[in-house]
Amino acid sequence: MTFTTRFAPSPTGQLHLGHAYSALLAFDMATAAGGICLLRIEDIDTARARPEWEAQIYDDLRWLGLDWPEPILRQSEHLVRYNAALLSLGPRGLIYPCSCSRADIRAAQSAPQEGAPRDPVYPGTCRGRDMAGRRPGDALRLDLARAVAAIGPAPLTFTETGDAQAGRHRIRGDDLSVQMGDPVLGRKEIETVAYVLAAVLDDAGQKITHVVRGTDLFEFTPLQVLLQRLFGLPTPIYHHHRLIRDDTGKRLAKRDDARAIAKYRDDGASPADIRRLVGLP
Ligand code: GLU
Repeated sequence: MTFTTRFAPSPTGQLHLGHAYSALLAFDMATAAGGICLLRIEDIDTARARPEWEAQIYDDLRWLGLDWPEPILRQSEHLVRYNAALLSLGPRGLIYPCSCSRADIRAAQSAPQEGAPRDPVYPGTCRGRDMAGRRPGDALRLDLARAVAAIGPAPLTFTETGDAQAGRHRIRGDDLSVQMGDPVLGRKEIETVAYVLAAVLDDAGQKITHVVRGTDLFEFTPLQVLLQRLFGLPTPIYHHHRLIRDDTGKRLAKRDDARAIAKYRDDGASPADIRRLVGLP
């Protein structure tokens, strides 16, 4: 199978050095393997995605010397397809409507714990609600315990080749349902699906053999493998790469305009300077 990877930015701000590293690494790995790297625009968050950021993505990547097959996939053009996949889990009893706000979810987590997790684990308040009773504005959650039961006893497995935790990972479905609350797969703000699901559907649809992305997304991988199993899709090889950090050790964010690729360009840097800055030969 041809090595096929993708760079999948969301046009919600300027690309920074971290994106440059991710894109260059993915394209380098594809070149080294005689394969291809696709560009995918993950613009399902229509409240935050903007055409001007998308235009700048093309501009910055071309300036870096990257080129990709056309047409590119823009996720905002595929919402109907994602939604149909999500709703197909309804008759299987795997999703349920949820009207809890984030604040409600927090409040339901009564006893504060030491070293509390960043996001409270959803306590399952709406679990068991019938899809027929879905109200406008309800989110859709995956019933993890049922999803785990639906895939059978074989553990969730994937191969990681990246900078951290390289090797073969085996996660027991039961552990997954203890560690994370039932995840939201459909958001209530807009009739669309969560990033984790759209990415899984497109990785399979685009025959992605290797997912190259930052270690900040590592934690989503077990859930994505579970979704692949639920939909009967193949699991690609994962390569989570180190994150580019600022001088204080913080991971770069889209608001860090000082590290925007465009800023380096304006200041007279060359694409070779960018490669050097992110530690690529
Ligand atoms: N769209 C995601 C981002 O902006 C990347 C998703 C992925 O590579 O799986 O970081």
